Amino acid sequence: HSKVYDAIVIGAGAAGLMCAAEAGKRGLNVLLLDHAKQVGKKILISGGGRCNFTNYYVEANAYLSQNPHFCKSALSRYTQWDFIALVDKHGIAYHEKTLGQLFCDDSAKDIVNMLVDECNQAGVTIQLRTAVTSVDYVDNQYQIATSDGLFQANRLVVATGGLSMPKLGATAFGFELARQFGLNLLETRAGLVPFTLQPDDKRCFEPISGVSAPSVIESESGTSFKENLLFTHRGISGPAVLQISSFWQSGEPVYINLIPSQSDENWLLDARKQQGERTLKTLLSEHLAKRIVEQWLLHQQIENKPLKQFDDKQLVELAQRLARWPIKPSGTEGYRTAEVTLGGVDTNELSSKTMEAKKQPGLYFIGEVVDVTGWLGGYNFQWAWSSGWACAQAL
Ligand code: FAD
Repeated sequence: HSKVYDAIVIGAGAAGLMCAAEAGKRGLNVLLLDHAKQVGKKILISGGGRCNFTNYYVEANAYLSQNPHFCKSALSRYTQWDFIALVDKHGIAYHEKTLGQLFCDDSAKDIVNMLVDECNQAGVTIQLRTAVTSVDYVDNQYQIATSDGLFQANRLVVATGGLSMPKLGATAFGFELARQFGLNLLETRAGLVPFTLQPDDKRCFEPISGVSAPSVIESESGTSFKENLLFTHRGISGPAVLQISSFWQSGEPVYINLIPSQSDENWLLDARKQQGERTLKTLLSEHLAKRIVEQWLLHQQIENKPLKQFDDKQLVELAQRLARWPIKPSGTEGYRTAEVTLGGVDTNELSSKTMEAKKQPGLYFIGEVVDVTGWLGGYNFQWAWSSGWACAQAL
């Protein structure tokens, strides 16, 4: 004796909660399943506990995907303004931190409570601590065998997210299910993740761990971000590094502009003309944290001396190097600390309007399990909301 629902959603994270609530509102009898003992764990720790739940400037080019057009339909039908209206309806206070990023004033719990409220009002059954042991498709019905018995529905939504932060309960379930039904998967890798440095570089910059600076970081492919760079015990991090990590391929360098405020490559020549007695370190320290200047000069094996002792060529080269310092990470910190997983279910397998698998009727994939990954800044949650909402309209 199994329980029969109109739709079953596996994964009570951002996308699953949104999808279940919206499907419930449309009158469907919905079961939302999760193996965790709590819903929305990633939401709770996101944005330093304040959840950067969306961004004023959401647009398709803030997403990485093999098909850059795939995300457009869902993002345009359920926008950041729709989500902000929901947040307003629940009386949740929020603010813009920087670059259009919206955070709760108080706590990420507000967002989780809001979504649970929406699910409850829509009559969604939320069942936690339930491990799925198998999924079968028989007579147009999905049969979900779990640690808590058998459940059936003719629509199954997979919202189990990516591989990042296994400690929080991330699993490869969604990818395995996609494979079971013959859907193509694109190789996954950690995104929005700190870089580790080669041993010599690491040793050189270790003394300044915790020091940060505004920077522009560019990938080999030419994408760049202007945000803070942070030196850490293991390598480099900070928003600029997290952003560029999603565009980085193993073995490539990234190029760091340490003094983005100086765009003229002759600026050191001008400085020498005006203040030739000053040392290089003193001058650079006006534009960049002194401790970074010191370690960087050591790293580059550049002797600190008065500017007038450098010739033209040396100063021009130095300015170029400060503006485009190539550094080759040894790797990333991986899924342990990554915010997202790049790759996943190939968007060619899905309808961009409904998220339904083209070759498997009634099977849907939403959120991070899909090969759509946003920049840092609330874009990943917006994808979860938008794809969850779009799917719910089609269930
Ligand atoms: P998730 O929210 O990860 O939900 C997946 C759910 O599926 C979980 O509840 C999990 O328990 C469940 N599940 C997994 N496997 C199984 C299984 N086998 N059986 C049953 N249930 C299963 N994005 C932003 O936009 N803004 C931020 O501020 C932000 N901060 C972040 C901070 C951190 C530290 C991290 C790790 C990520 C952050 N992100 C942020 C990214 C964002 O959290 C994710 O992109 C988003 O949660 C993806 O939503 P999802 O619903 O697809 O997956």
